[in-house]
Amino acid sequence: MHPWIGRLIVNFVLCLICFIAYSSQIFIIWPWYGRELSIELITLLLPFNLLVAMLLWNYFLCIVTDPGHVPEHWKPDTHSEGYEVKKLTGAPRYCRVCEKYKPPRAHHCRSCNRCVLRMDHHCPWINNCVGHFNYGHFLRFLFYVDLACSYHLAMVTSRVFDTMGKRYWDEPSSIELVFTILNYVACVPVLMAVGAFSLYHFYCLLGNTTTIEGWEKDKVATMVRRGKLREVKFPYHLGKRKNIESVFGKNPLLWCWPTVTPGTGLKYEIADGEEHQPVWPPRDPTHSSAGPETEFILPSSPWTYENGSVNPDLKPYNSNLRNAASSSKRRRQQHTTGSSALPPYHPDYQAGRDTIVYSSDTDSSGEDDATNPFIRRGSEGYEVRPVDREDLLSQYLREIGEEPGRYHRYIPYPDSESDDDDITLAQTINKK
Ligand SMILES: [Zn+2]
Ligand SMILES: [Zn+2]
Repeated sequence: MHPWIGRLIVNFVLCLICFIAYSSQIFIIWPWYGRELSIELITLLLPFNLLVAMLLWNYFLCIVTDPGHVPEHWKPDTHSEGYEVKKLTGAPRYCRVCEKYKPPRAHHCRSCNRCVLRMDHHCPWINNCVGHFNYGHFLRFLFYVDLACSYHLAMVTSRVFDTMGKRYWDEPSSIELVFTILNYVACVPVLMAVGAFSLYHFYCLLGNTTTIEGWEKDKVATMVRRGKLREVKFPYHLGKRKNIESVFGKNPLLWCWPTVTPGTGLKYEIADGEEHQPVWPPRDPTHSSAGPETEFILPSSPWTYENGSVNPDLKPYNSNLRNAASSSKRRRQQHTTGSSALPPYHPDYQAGRDTIVYSSDTDSSGEDDATNPFIRRGSEGYEVRPVDREDLLSQYLREIGEEPGRYHRYIPYPDSESDDDDITLAQTINKK
């Protein structure tokens, strides 16, 4: 989303808050009390204005507080228990965009274009991510919206009831009537939407669960229902009191007051006896390719492959789409020319097969032969075991009755744009 749109939304929210908070006081309550300062009027409006002030303060803190970022050169401590509960392959999670390791509960936000500690969700209403350091402010903001809106509706409704009890509209004013309607129109939907949303978040707070972890819990529940998994306990659930304290701090008197969230956001307490639990989120056993869990030794660089060198066939994220597009182009060419556009030593060439489909379905160790590249798909991208091109070439030479390694051959790469497109590679070689 464009940052400009984010700022526009924040300004819209501010206007809405100010409209509900102040138009009601100026155009409904003030005339109701005879446009005079009185003890009753102050007693009515002071708590409301305090709620609005707390709401605005927490809203401001939500927007300006950094939700938490991964420090430069941060590495997970792989020797401590529960150092990293999310792992697909036994390796610590790594973000290829930020080029940093991901601490537990951290996720990459595409809107902020960085990893956010204990990411809950990206909130367009605050134009910021909700993460470790502003989650408390966000919850307090929701709480004060609920309280202030309820107070506002009670105030305006008592004004309406006061009028209905009388024979005539007390100080009949069309402006007052219009603002009463507008205040209902603005406040009721806000209270319903934010109320439902905040109930969900208070429920999540009691379970020490972020929105993302809530989705993961749903997935696990589905797997348990289908009998793929045994019941798995969520590792961060420490008990209701401790869950609240992990966000608002230990002193209950300050829970409603803006305070800094305790902890660094890089490490989280795990419930007692959970250390030897299965990883979170648990792997789907039908899609898992990793072996038994062993202690992972952190490599010097996350870009190493087997013997410490860079994997030459590591596919960039969008290569899947490019590959599909070029495969379909090649298929079309094969239909029109009647021959393969690829040389047999090309890793995509397969006799009798049109194309290799790169998908998680090929993620099977049973097909682990030289012509089938081994592809592992995970949340952090693809890893492709390279095809041995020398083997493929010698296999091809044996097929056409040649002795592998006898000659150094120059085999031109067929150019799809060239005129001799319809001459097969075998014919080209035989002519020489
Ligand atoms: Zn990232
Ligand atoms: Zn974000």
